[in-house]
Amino acid sequence: MEEPEKKHRDHRELGQLLDLFSFHDIAPGAAFWHPNGMTIFRVLESAARQMNDRAGYKEISTPIMVKSDVFKKSGHWEHYRKNMFHFVNPTDENEELAIKPMNCPESTYVFNASTRSYRDMPLRFAELGRLHRNELSGTLGGLFRVRQMTMDDAHVYCRPDQVETEIRHIVDLTMRFYAVFGFKPTCVLATRPEKFMGDAADWDKAEAALKSALAASGMEYELQEGEGAFYGPKIEFHLRDSQDRDWQMGTAQLDLVMLPKQFETQYVDESGEKKMPWVIHRAIFGTFERFIGMMLEHTDGTLPVWLAPVQATVLYVNDSQRAYAEEVVAALVAAGVRAELDTQNATLGKKIRAAEVLRIPVIAVIGEKEVAARTVSVRNDVKPFDVFIADTAKAAKIPII
Ligand code: ZN
Repeated sequence: MEEPEKKHRDHRELGQLLDLFSFHDIAPGAAFWHPNGMTIFRVLESAARQMNDRAGYKEISTPIMVKSDVFKKSGHWEHYRKNMFHFVNPTDENEELAIKPMNCPESTYVFNASTRSYRDMPLRFAELGRLHRNELSGTLGGLFRVRQMTMDDAHVYCRPDQVETEIRHIVDLTMRFYAVFGFKPTCVLATRPEKFMGDAADWDKAEAALKSALAASGMEYELQEGEGAFYGPKIEFHLRDSQDRDWQMGTAQLDLVMLPKQFETQYVDESGEKKMPWVIHRAIFGTFERFIGMMLEHTDGTLPVWLAPVQATVLYVNDSQRAYAEEVVAALVAAGVRAELDTQNATLGKKIRAAEVLRIPVIAVIGEKEVAARTVSVRNDVKPFDVFIADTAKAAKIPII
């Protein structure tokens, strides 16, 4: 397969070249993930889950379809209804249902399912929620403007005195996550707008906590005064890709009043009084769709080894080496590497070129010498069988974040 030389490739083009995903008229704004793309999706899901587990988050899952009452209560129905998919139950005209455009309101039902004490706080609920938003069909484009999306969402319920530590925790986690991809995000802090809900003193306290958390993390940030949401200040994480484009990826949005008040989330404080927690809406890589699209364009499809759909391919010069090549592949697969045997009937040069076009990070070559010495050639390096398997398995693992 030949590919034209070009400076910057669109992720849709890479999606086709690497057989990752496709879009079809029958589902505007929703990707069909092919096996290779689904591998990337699943590995990212695992990375998010491992990261959340280590960082003290508890994963929840809330329904995709709920009564529209939930969004009437949250205020979305009034202001956001056009962006939602909703319908009347065909067998019960009194039941109106909505497909969730966000996870926040439903997370409060998990919070409210038990009596919460100040000692239980903070409660960090993660949800890899599948969301649907009714974007106009004319504005849809690849993985960047979609109707169906999966967010690495979380809602942290905490006491006001814990917010600084929690924000610092989120900033550190976000920086560690992006460092794995070689990014160093910058921050924007958006503060109280003219029209705001809640107590001005609470806002001051919250903004001071956010600033001090950013300072403690050593983060420089751009202050956008008056640009916060009406219910709380926000931190945005931005990064610059290889094309020098700015991407807003993660966010930590503080919610001082909205969710806690509308859904009456409460905890019992030290003196037995009921108090409203503050809620932090947090996403680190945003949506899987956008993150994958961004990473594809940023790397021109050359993903880190641990994220590559096919991590290793084993090529042999002629059939007399096939048995040994199969043994190498089997050992890689057993060690947890996504490895394939290249059985194409082509010259070695052509096979190497094809593997390069597919951005397969480890291209192992087996010839007569390798069979005789029980070694594997990778680029200009010759490694003993066991060393090659161990090195590749190490690089193939999801990094600890
Ligand atoms: Zn939320």
